[in-house]
Amino acid sequence: MSLSHWEYQEVFKDIDYCIVGAGIVGSCTAIFLREQFPEAKILILERGSLPQGASTKNAGFACFGSVSEILDDHEHMSQDEIRDLIKLRIDGLNLLKSLVPAEVMDYKEWGGYEVFDDASANIYTEQIQNYNRLVEEASGLQNCFSLMPSKFDLQFGKQMIFNQYEGQLNPVKMLFHLHKRIRQEGTTILFGANISNYEIEDEGAVLNLENGTKVETKNAVFCTNAFSKKFFPDFNVRAARNQVMVSTPIEGLQPKGTFHFDKGYVYFRNIGNRLLIGGARNLDPITETTEAFGANDKIKQHLRSLVAEKILPGKDVHYEQEWSGIIAVGDSKVPHIKKINNHCFAAFRLGGMGVAIGSKVAEKLTHMIVNKV
Ligand SMILES: Cc1cc2nc3c(=O)[nH]c(=O)nc-3n(C[C@H](O)[C@H](O)[C@H](O)COP(=O)(O)OP(=O)(O)OC[C@H]3O[C@@H](n4cnc5c(N)ncnc54)[C@H](O)[C@@H]3O)c2cc1C
Repeated sequence: MSLSHWEYQEVFKDIDYCIVGAGIVGSCTAIFLREQFPEAKILILERGSLPQGASTKNAGFACFGSVSEILDDHEHMSQDEIRDLIKLRIDGLNLLKSLVPAEVMDYKEWGGYEVFDDASANIYTEQIQNYNRLVEEASGLQNCFSLMPSKFDLQFGKQMIFNQYEGQLNPVKMLFHLHKRIRQEGTTILFGANISNYEIEDEGAVLNLENGTKVETKNAVFCTNAFSKKFFPDFNVRAARNQVMVSTPIEGLQPKGTFHFDKGYVYFRNIGNRLLIGGARNLDPITETTEAFGANDKIKQHLRSLVAEKILPGKDVHYEQEWSGIIAVGDSKVPHIKKINNHCFAAFRLGGMGVAIGSKVAEKLTHMIVNKV
């Protein structure tokens, strides 16, 4: 597509930093780069009419790992890596709260709960002291997890684990607030701009848009998370789909807060008096290892059964919205923050915790871009 004189001058000429992806990582990176370079020409290219990945499709948990999830992490991560990851999540949530006021993103610190069957109770409850120590070492937060009798009429087991520091938010209000600030600071965001491939040159990079436009930039910054494999085939990263459903309003809805089940694979929360439930990709891992949005009936049926049998037994629940989002996973939960060369950088593989770590990953990426290390 040919550009007008003004389109070229205002949007595409002399770009200092071109960020691919307008999710939480791309957006926070634009903000941190602007802090460092007030006069720079910064452009964000986003392929969707809305960000088309995870940042506006997630469940809005402001969380840093449940006890069963941390226990599961011990299978493939060292104690130091787990502590660093908890710190990254808590620091990330604090940084996010400094970028977006709590009332703007409907942030509510109602606490989080881990639910489990009585048969698993001992395995998890005996870790509470250990993980309280780990969280305190990582962040200074004390007595994070506590055991309590089950409440809200949930039918999992007799007990649950409460995390007093967990919160919930509205991910679209959060991201749109970042986008508003980005525009006010003079950065352009182009939606519907799909990058097909790129070429690295001596003094920069050329990003080729699907419509034929060539975008020349001094620095290319890829924040493409689950969709990064086509740009960086040698890195360990896989796309994983997640299903989500939200009910119609339910009179007298009891569960309030954020809830984790089955090592964090299943999650549910209230949105006002609606119930959101999602996850369970571990039920059909082969089908769900995909970049393609879409429904999985087996998983949806499982989530519906959990609601009918354990979360709201006896209630006639109707679902108003169903959708999917795509996350990036790999053999480790540690995100990739990479310098590809002096003019090309990338951050991806944020797993199911990008609300928590996204801003901090962007801060680290910016540090790498500024210092070229
Ligand atoms: C259903 C679901 C529930 C989740 N729940 C939670 C939660 O409760 N708490 C939590 O902390 N995390 C949660 N997550 C994870 C979290 O949403 C992600 O880790 C986070 O949003 C990743 O941010 P990102 O900016 O790296 O990636 P994304 O938000 O995926 O952004 C990447 C962007 O790059 C764009 N892009 C990709 N390729 C191209 C291209 N070729 N050209 C142009 N643009 C391109 C995409 O369209 C996309 O907008 C959840 C994720 C899902 C899917």
